Amino acid sequence: MAGKPWFEEKGLRFECTQCGDCCTGAPGFVWVNQEEIEAIAKAISVDVDEFEKKYVRKIGIRKSLVEFPNGDCVFFDTEKRNCSVYEARPRQCRTWPWWNSNINSEKAWEETKEACPGCGKGKLFTAEHILNQAAIIRI
Ligand code: SF4
Ligand code: SF4
Repeated sequence: MAGKPWFEEKGLRFECTQCGDCCTGAPGFVWVNQEEIEAIAKAISVDVDEFEKKYVRKIGIRKSLVEFPNGDCVFFDTEKRNCSVYEARPRQCRTWPWWNSNINSEKAWEETKEACPGCGKGKLFTAEHILNQAAIIRI
């Protein structure tokens, strides 16, 4: 984002309602690097090679967690409606909704609000915090 972001003065609000929509539904990708693969494998006490075979798919040169056939993330607990590896969840999940693609314009943010009921509500985050989060992973 060149120059000051459009939300510089007011910041943006977000508070997860735990609806689970971002972990479920339409097929997508949950990108993971080696460090994240190792962290999740450790969290569920699975050997890294076995973890990769079972839970990771290669997309070009990148790697993503696999999904259930309905598009839900393989680590989404459908009964509890939450992430079963929450403490070890990857950067992509940790930094939501502060992705460049969501915040690079007011229009993009409005669209993100339509997809995620927690966006635009609840806790206020400063532009500095948001930009720091967005810099963690380029999505
Ligand atoms: S879609 Fe938004 S509100 Fe729903 S679980 Fe995901 S982050 Fe939380
Ligand atoms: S790893 Fe957890 S937070 Fe990330 S998409 Fe899967 S279930 Fe959701």
